[in-house]
Amino acid sequence: MSLPLRPLRLLLLGAPGAGKGTQTSKLLKHFTGLTPISSGDLLRKEIQTKSEIGNYAQDIIAKGQLLPDSLISGLVINELNNRNLLNKNSSWLLDGFPRTLPQAKILNEDLVSKASDLNLVVELKVPERVILERIENRWVHVPSGRIYNLQYNPPKQQGVDDVTGEPLSKRPDDNAEVFQKRLNAYNETVDPLKSYYKDLGVLHSVEGETSDIIFPKLLDFIQNKFN
Ligand code: ATP
Ligand code: MG
Repeated sequence: MSLPLRPLRLLLLGAPGAGKGTQTSKLLKHFTGLTPISSGDLLRKEIQTKSEIGNYAQDIIAKGQLLPDSLISGLVINELNNRNLLNKNSSWLLDGFPRTLPQAKILNEDLVSKASDLNLVVELKVPERVILERIENRWVHVPSGRIYNLQYNPPKQQGVDDVTGEPLSKRPDDNAEVFQKRLNAYNETVDPLKSYYKDLGVLHSVEGETSDIIFPKLLDFIQNKFN
């Protein structure tokens, strides 16, 4: 299916494990030409290639802490630039960045100067109990960021990515102890971020226990607002 009529510059907010990555892949199937950028995926690629940023980020991520605002902002804005997305016509989707108020301000400065500020922020609201159940079952294909859940959407063949046939892996930060820290970090930083986007008039939310319940609501919302 095609893109919405107006360019969509979307930020998905939500606790770790709320399903930002899953909603992203579902949206990509509907809207060709929407470019996804996930800060977590970018970082995992840096770690895999053992770049300087990757080596630095590895320990911080493993502890469930956040990277410095300037570093992560530089990484994501650089990616937006390299992919030629900082213009008024491109449609893209951010997942995992910005996640603090300073990051939101850094990004906004750049976007506004290029007439490409965020025009939609959607918070995915999933009960914490559901998230905790989900996380132990999550496997990822690092090069693409594809996510599998052993209960809800298992890979066709166990331990193997459906598209490339490459091995899946467990994120080292998806264990109960580190996961709780990530949840806490999210809860500590999200309120100022939400007020910031609320004041800009772009904040919305969709609620549900599963990604299949959330997705139609998200899609409806985007279609109504952008077509
Ligand atoms: P999920 O992928 O389940 O939604 P998450 O949002 O915690 O969970 P990622 O977005 O994949 O996970 O990020 C993994 C880790 O990378 C974070 O715990 C953090 O250490 C680092 N990270 C990612 N994005 C940012 C950011 N915007 N600011 C600071 N650190 C970040
Ligand atoms: Mg993610």
